[in-house]
Amino acid sequence: MPARILDGIKIAADIRSEVAAEVKSLVAAGVRPGLAVVLVGHNPASEVYVRGKVKACQEVGIYSERHSPDETITTAALLALIEDLNRRDEIDGILVQLPLPAQVDSKKVLMAVDPAKDVDGFHPVNVGFLSTQRAGLVPCTPAGVMEILKRSGIPIAGREAVMVGRSDIVGKPVAMLLLNANATVTVCHSKTRDLPAVCRRADILVAAMGRAGMVTRDFIKPGATVVDVGINKVTDPAQFHRLFAGDKKREEIFRSKGSTLAGDVHPEVAEVAGALTPVPGGVGPLTIAMLMYNTIKAAQMRRGMLSPELAR
Ligand code: NDP
Repeated sequence: MPARILDGIKIAADIRSEVAAEVKSLVAAGVRPGLAVVLVGHNPASEVYVRGKVKACQEVGIYSERHSPDETITTAALLALIEDLNRRDEIDGILVQLPLPAQVDSKKVLMAVDPAKDVDGFHPVNVGFLSTQRAGLVPCTPAGVMEILKRSGIPIAGREAVMVGRSDIVGKPVAMLLLNANATVTVCHSKTRDLPAVCRRADILVAAMGRAGMVTRDFIKPGATVVDVGINKVTDPAQFHRLFAGDKKREEIFRSKGSTLAGDVHPEVAEVAGALTPVPGGVGPLTIAMLMYNTIKAAQMRRGMLSPELAR
C-alpha cells in the first residue's frame, strides 16, 4: 500500500486560521502583535521569502514592517537598527533574513536580537531554553516538523527517531524536539557510517541534508513515517530522470521551466513508508505558519499572557 501523504498545506492553513483567531482576541484585549522583517540587499530568493512572510502577516492580522538596508550596510549600522527594534514595544518579533552580506558579522547581529523577540529561535538563549525544556521560542521549520507529526496522529514517545542532518537551523532543533517528546533519537551527518542501516532503525525518519533524492527505499523500515525537509532545485536532466522518470506532471514542469523542486527523499520511498511528507507541499508551508505562531507567542510571553506550560 503506498504511503499516506501528510498534507503540509492543509496543516499550515489550520495553524494560520488558529493564529488569526488568537490575533483577534489579542487585538480585542488591546494588543496588536507586530513583526519586523529585516532584509539586507536584494537577494531574489530572500525577496520571495520576505514577501511571503509579510503577506502571511496581513492575512492573519499581524502588524508587519519591512526594513531593507542597502547591501553595503556595516555591522555597526545593522546593530543600531536591531537595537531600535528591540526597544520598540509594538514590535514583538524581529526576523533577520539570512544570508547577510559577507562584510556583516552575522553571529553578532543574531546575538543582538532580544531573545524575547527572536521569532526565528536562533539566539543561544532560546537554544538553551529548548535543550533544557524551558518556555522559549522554537525555530520555525523544526516546530513545523513536530506539528505535522502531532496533527497527523503519529506517535512519538518511545519511538526510534533518526534525524539526518545536524545544522543549527534544522537538524539539531528537530532532534531536541523529538527527544523532548520522548523519542529515542539518533542524529546522523556526513561522517555517519552506513547511513542506510542507521536510518532503517527509524520509526520516524527526518531528512534535512540538502541532497536531492538521497534517501532511497533501502533507508526505510517498512511502515515508517518519513519527513522530508529538503528543498533542492533540480536542473540536471540525468538527476531529474533518476528521481521523476514517468511522472507526467513533473516532466511537464521540468520541460517548461528547466527545473523542479525535489526533497531529500526519493519518490520510490512512498512504496515502503507508512506516511510521507511531499515536496513541495509538506514541511515548506509550515515554516511561515510557525513564524506567525511564534510572533503571537512572543507577544503573549512578553506581556506575561501565556503560562509557562502553554509557552513550551
Ligand atoms: P545544512 O547544509 O546546514 O546542513 C546539512 C546537514 O546534512 C549537515 O549536518 C550535513 O552533515 C548533512 N549531510 C550533508 N550531506 C550528507 C550526506 N551525504 N550524508 C549524511 N549527512 C549529510 O542544511 P540545512 O539544515 O540548512 O538545510 C537542509 C535542507 O533543508 C536543505 O535542502 C534546505 O533547503 C532545507 N530547508 C528547508 C526549509 C523549509 O522551510 N522546508 C527550511 C530550512 C532548510 P555535516 O554536518 O557533517 O556537514
